[in-house]
Amino acid sequence: MSSTTNGGISFWYAQDGIPAPREPLPGDATADVCIVGGGFTGLWTAYYLKKAVPFLNITVLEGKFCGYGASGRNGGWLYNGIAGRDAYALKHGHDAAVRLQQAMNDTVAEVVRVAADETIDADIHRGGVLEVAYTPAQLARLKDFHTTEIAFGEMDRTLHGARETAERVRVTGAVGSTWTPHGARLHPVKLLKGLAAAVEALGVTIHESTPVTEIKPKHAITPYGTVRAPYVLRCTEGFTAGLKGQRRTWLPMNSSMIATEPLPASVWDTIGWEGRETLGDMAHAYMYAQRTADDRIALGGRGVPYRYGSRTDNDGRTQPATIAALRDILVRFFPTTAGVRIDHAWSGVLGVPRDWCATVTLDRSTGLGWAGGYVGSGVATTNLAARTLRDLIQQDSGQGGPTDLTTLPWVNHKVRKWEPEPLRWLGVHTLYAAYRTADRQESRARTTTTHRLARTANRIAGRH
Ligand SMILES: Cc1cc2nc3c(=O)[nH]c(=O)nc-3n(C[C@H](O)[C@H](O)[C@H](O)COP(=O)(O)OP(=O)(O)OC[C@H]3O[C@@H](n4cnc5c(N)ncnc54)[C@H](O)[C@@H]3O)c2cc1C
Repeated sequence: MSSTTNGGISFWYAQDGIPAPREPLPGDATADVCIVGGGFTGLWTAYYLKKAVPFLNITVLEGKFCGYGASGRNGGWLYNGIAGRDAYALKHGHDAAVRLQQAMNDTVAEVVRVAADETIDADIHRGGVLEVAYTPAQLARLKDFHTTEIAFGEMDRTLHGARETAERVRVTGAVGSTWTPHGARLHPVKLLKGLAAAVEALGVTIHESTPVTEIKPKHAITPYGTVRAPYVLRCTEGFTAGLKGQRRTWLPMNSSMIATEPLPASVWDTIGWEGRETLGDMAHAYMYAQRTADDRIALGGRGVPYRYGSRTDNDGRTQPATIAALRDILVRFFPTTAGVRIDHAWSGVLGVPRDWCATVTLDRSTGLGWAGGYVGSGVATTNLAARTLRDLIQQDSGQGGPTDLTTLPWVNHKVRKWEPEPLRWLGVHTLYAAYRTADRQESRARTTTTHRLARTANRIAGRH
């Protein structure tokens, strides 16, 4: 494990290079729209707004550099999942949630389209998403999940038995899988860098190394000056707690990844995975993986789920125990990888709202907007959020009416704050201890029912 690079933001940056820094904010400034955060949410929003209204003066303020957060560290699953859909179905009705799901299906295609239009080579491969089960309880959940997704309009999803699953990817002990075409594998940093360049080419101003300390109506305050703008959009996801007044808004949940060395053909012969589907499982503490363009496996899961006081990691450094746990999952899935080198390990933070429901909001009385709380599904969702923020701003400024996007059920959703510490820390750690125990028990018991600890944990967490 000593040859493993730990941190350095992510493997994707080790491979593609940290970008040259952009100038910080030089002093007080004005803009029509000020966007705080240069991840996918912030950059997609700048992109679509500027495309729609080319004369808009848009400034992006980024605390470190564009792509420093989850957008530059993720598993590269561009897929149609959105956190909170089932809760939105309960609240707004099934048809509204079907519209949201359809919008997410379209979003996968939209990201692929823009990447092509902007000639961004992000190693995109549209192999769909394959989720596997390897215990009877997981298989029962997988079948339920499959049926639910079809009920939300995914008629092109397919269910596979053990043999058909192995024809795609040979995961040891897999007893079944579900596959959707609405997914693609990508290299997140290549997409991020290409998008940032496209946004700048359109005439958007990006200032890096410019942390915003406080957002107030019409003001984004930084140590170097204040940007005044009628619209200020908070796109800070897992780092939101660092802003004044936002400590308990979204919880920074940790997710960690490893990337192997490029694997030889002899290993790939034992694994298959020629379709390069993004790969996940139905465990409570689930894993996610992709086969990279240069034939590595990049695999992620939850290590230490949360740091006391909503702290975030140190440039992606992760715990040795987490690296070992992820390697165990890799070898459990694919025993022929037992001797392979782990080239890189890293971690990042997701934004988790108290009800686990992603949201996009524009407060018309203050001009403050935000989007996030995507939990683990933000690579595509950020794009839908951005187009929605564009439409909300156009509507608010009298340049358009309601659209198909502004009427989706996740728009202007309100959620209560997280509990204060130490309850927050205790709650999340207990939750994940329960999930891990439930996974272990389900593996041992071989029954088809989801373990009661996981069911209780879901109820207490407010997850649907
Ligand atoms: C390890 C990992 C794996 C993941 N895998 C997947 C996946 O495979 N598929 C998927 O759909 N989703 C995945 N996700 C989630 C997905 O990456 C995120 O939901 C998405 O990137 C969020 O984008 P964002 O722009 O909202 O936030 P971020 O990318 O976190 O960007 C926020 C930006 O704001 C900046 N910022 C924060 N605070 C301030 C401030 N005060 N002032 C100025 N700037 C500030 C940060 O530096 C950062 O650049 C994963 C996340 C992680 C961590």
